[in-house]
Amino acid sequence: MAHDNTTLDHRLAIDGNEPCVTDPPSSYLHGPQEIGDEEVAAVTAALRSQHLFRFGKPEEASPTAQFEKHFAAATGVSHCLAVNSGTSALICGLVGLGVSSGDEVIIPAYTYIATAAAVLAVRAIPVIAEIDDSLTLDPRDVEEKITERTVAIIPVHMRGMPCRMAELIEIARRRDLRVLEDCAQANGGAYGGRPLGSIGDAGAFSLQHFKIITAGEGGAVTAQERRTFERAATHHDAAYRFWMKGHWTGEESFLGENYRMSDLNAALALAQLGKRHRILDRLRSIKHRLVLAIRNLPGVRMQDVPDVAGDCGTSAVFFVDGPAKAKWVAEALRAEGMRAGSMFDEGIPDRHIYYHWDYVMLKQTADRHGYPWRDPSRPCHVEYTRDMCPRTLSFLGRAVSVPLTQAMTDRHIDGCITAIEKVTRAASERVFDSP
Ligand SMILES: *Cc1c(COP(=O)(O)O)cnc(C)c1O
Repeated sequence: MAHDNTTLDHRLAIDGNEPCVTDPPSSYLHGPQEIGDEEVAAVTAALRSQHLFRFGKPEEASPTAQFEKHFAAATGVSHCLAVNSGTSALICGLVGLGVSSGDEVIIPAYTYIATAAAVLAVRAIPVIAEIDDSLTLDPRDVEEKITERTVAIIPVHMRGMPCRMAELIEIARRRDLRVLEDCAQANGGAYGGRPLGSIGDAGAFSLQHFKIITAGEGGAVTAQERRTFERAATHHDAAYRFWMKGHWTGEESFLGENYRMSDLNAALALAQLGKRHRILDRLRSIKHRLVLAIRNLPGVRMQDVPDVAGDCGTSAVFFVDGPAKAKWVAEALRAEGMRAGSMFDEGIPDRHIYYHWDYVMLKQTADRHGYPWRDPSRPCHVEYTRDMCPRTLSFLGRAVSVPLTQAMTDRHIDGCITAIEKVTRAASERVFDSP
C-alpha cells in the first residue's frame, strides 16, 4: 500500500491490516556491513607479514601503531593506546587516571554493565547516578552523589548521544574529579565541536562487533596527558617497559596485565576507521529526516539532544506518557514492519540498566573476602537497591527506541515516519492501564 500525507490510511497492522513499512535494511549493524575489499586487503597484508605482534618491528610496519596514530589524530588528542576491548580500555583508562582501591567512581544508571565491571576491576566502587531526558548522566544527580571518596566520573555517551559535557566538566573541575568518557557507543561523536574522547581527561572506545566501527574485538584509550597514557600503557602489558626498551620515558613501573591488541585486529580497525565518516554522515541525515517528521506529533516528546551536530544518530528515541503505552507503541510499530522497542521491562534482563546488574546489586565478586565492597581498611558505605534511581526507570519506561542503520533507504524511513504517525495517533486515542 502506498501512502501520502493526504490519504493516510489509519488502519494498523497490529489489528490485522497490511504493514506500511517496506524495504527493510538487510543489517542493523554499523561496522560489520561495511567490511569489504579494504578490510580484506588490510588483514591479508597483516597475515602476509607473518608478524602479528605489535612490538619488535618498526612502528610503520605495525597496524596497531598506525591505528593509534590515526585514531589520536581523528580524536584530537596527543595519545592513543590500542587495547583488546572496550572493557580493557575503561580499565586501563581508570588506571591511567590513578583510580585506586576503595575510590568511588560515579557512573550512570543506564550504561552497559562493563562500565561498572571496569570500576570493580580496579577495586574501586561504582556509584550509580540518575540519567535525565537525554538518557545520559544527569549533572545534578552527579553533584548529589559526590562524597569525600569520589575521585572520578564516567560520562557514557549512550547510543551515540553526547553527554552534557559542559556541565559535567564544570562539576569535575570545581570538585577536583577526573573524567573518563565512555565512548564505546559513540565513536566519531562530538560535543561543542570537539570529538568525544578529547573532552575529559581520558576516553575509552570499543571496537566490538556491535559498535559503530569494529575490529572484531578491540578498544582504544585516548588521553591528553603523557602520564595518563603511560600509566594506561604500563597496565596494558605485563612487560611494557621491556618491549619499549630505549623508547621508555615513563617514571613509574608497576604491575601490568595483558590487554594488547593484535596487529590482525588493528589492520581491520584501521580500514574501518577510514569508513567512519561516511557511516556517521548517513546516520545523521537519516536521523534528521526522521526527527523532523515526528518531533511535533501529539503525545510524542523527543529525547533531549545535548549537541545535535555531535550526535552519532545510531538511534531515535521518543517518550510517550506511560510504560504501558510505550510497550504498545513499540509492538504496533514492529507489526508495521520496522524495528522499535520499549526500553525498560522488569522481566527482561537488559544489561544496560542498573536494575538488572545482578552482581553489582548483590555485591558479588570473585574475591572470597568480598573486595572491593568489603575492605576492612576502607569500609564501604555505598548501597544498591533496585529502586535507587526512579527517574532513570521512569525515563526508560516511557521511551520508545528506533534503531537506525546507514543501510536504510529513504523509502524505508518514509515508511517508518508513516508508521510512527499513525501508531502514535492511535495510541493517543486509546486508554492504557497504568503503569
Ligand atoms: C560495548 C560497551 C563497553 C564494553 O566494550 P567491549 O568491547 O564489549 O568490552 C563499555 N561501555 C559501553 C557503553 C558499551 O556499549
